[in-house]
Amino acid sequence: MDQRLDTAEEFAGGAQYIGGRLRPGTSGREHAVVDPADGREILRYELAGAADVDAAVAAARRALPGWSGATPGERSAALHRFAQVLAGRAGDLARTESAQCGKPIRLTTEFDVPGTVDNTAFFAGAARHLEGRSAGEYSGDHTSYVRREPIGVVGSVAPWNYPLQMAAWKVLPAVAAGNTIVLKPAELTPLTSLMFARAATEAGIPDGVVNVVSGAGPEAGEHLVGHPGVAMTSFTGSTAVGRRVAEIATATVKRLHLELGGKAPFVVFDDADLDAAVHGAVAGALINTGQDCTAATRAYVQRPLYDAFVTGVAELMTTVRLGHPLDPATDLGPLVSTAQRDRVAGFVDRARGYATVVTGGHVPQGEWAKGAYYPPTLIVGAPQDSEIVQAEIFGPVLAVLPFDSDDEGLALANDTPYGLAASAWTRDVYRAGRATREIAAGCVWINDHIPIVSEMPHGGHGASGYGKDMSAYSFEEYTQVKHVMYDNTGVARKDWHRTVFGAR
Ligand code: NAD
Repeated sequence: MDQRLDTAEEFAGGAQYIGGRLRPGTSGREHAVVDPADGREILRYELAGAADVDAAVAAARRALPGWSGATPGERSAALHRFAQVLAGRAGDLARTESAQCGKPIRLTTEFDVPGTVDNTAFFAGAARHLEGRSAGEYSGDHTSYVRREPIGVVGSVAPWNYPLQMAAWKVLPAVAAGNTIVLKPAELTPLTSLMFARAATEAGIPDGVVNVVSGAGPEAGEHLVGHPGVAMTSFTGSTAVGRRVAEIATATVKRLHLELGGKAPFVVFDDADLDAAVHGAVAGALINTGQDCTAATRAYVQRPLYDAFVTGVAELMTTVRLGHPLDPATDLGPLVSTAQRDRVAGFVDRARGYATVVTGGHVPQGEWAKGAYYPPTLIVGAPQDSEIVQAEIFGPVLAVLPFDSDDEGLALANDTPYGLAASAWTRDVYRAGRATREIAAGCVWINDHIPIVSEMPHGGHGASGYGKDMSAYSFEEYTQVKHVMYDNTGVARKDWHRTVFGAR
């Protein structure tokens, strides 16, 4: 039975969520959300224009005094209710996320939605643990303490690869810390961000605290990032767009949080458990059809294990089942769009000029041709400085390269501009320790690749940006520090006044 959400009914009010209600955009331009499995139009909506962004920022500004003035306990209680409302809509959220992104239903049911509920519950607790440093008499004559305060209205721009989780990662630390927010999801995939915002209202979070503008990047996105009523920009997306966002935000002196692209290395030392490394590489490369900023994209395998690793990965990749996203038997769904599929195919086609495609590498025909499908693809023989090894492909494509010494393997792992995530595979505790110290990335896994938890920070080094999502660390992004200093002497002529009045 098709249990898909009736999107026409759910979003009858429009695809903008401003001040606690849905309304249509006013840009005069329409956009269609399309199911990448079959090209079916899921929802046609009017994009947000500048006036919609202005209205959303105004709603967020109106909500700010009340929300930032609420006690941590009140915000926490609202977020606990929010987690319950989201859990109650888990099925609708999972099916809608699968339909708009092409994600296999097992992924949305077991990862995207429970991850979002868990994040919400985590920030419900964390809202009561915002703290500054302890007070002290540092000058002798004064007492100092530090307040951690909300920044104001946050303008956030998110990508299409994990729309629900990205909405959660942006919205939750911001509102838990007392800010209000305007989120712009990717125009391809606004549906679950809108459902997320509606669930916030249902949970009793006041109107205007969470707003969503569904608009195009250069139009609604740039207007939001440059908006004078917005105090902070938080952006997740590609490094190229992140640079543009940084330029605009810097011109208006905003707090800036950037989570950008990745090209995660997967380093297999010669003492590794080969079977574990093979399974880890295939799962790590194919999760979310490879459209994951932390996906395993470049495997470096020490020479003694190289041939067996390549054979093992090729064999395991051929067992992966392409299928409709809503079929529980599906391992690999389509990419988010045919444009993204063609982009991935272009990278692989160009790589044929300098490397060998061991398995995959062709757009599937027949029953898969109506969707944005692309098969698991393994590439060997590519030079380290080639496009397939250096550029973010964002598809189910893994390149494998050999290395000899440990020094060489670690140097190759660090040889891209990115630094979001990495893994090292070894049974030697000293090699593992060295890899965790020397690989330049925001996260290094040992003998696994991909898992995340709400309590730990996610964010990059280098061209992968800066700023942390999830965890208590994200409060440092979404709060500003204020030093408060009290005079303890009560005298009119302070000791330090000598510098102005002399001995008089
Ligand atoms: P993208 O950079 O094309 O778009 C991201 C968002 O920016 C979208 O909402 C888009 O509409 C908006 N945008 C586009 N142009 C803009 C502009 N000029 N001004 C303001 N906003 C603009 O990225 P994408 O293709 O949606 O997502 C894939 C990228 O996101 C990959 O590079 C991936 O690595 C990255 N990503 C990073 C993380 C992380 O945590 N570091 C997580 C998920 C995705």
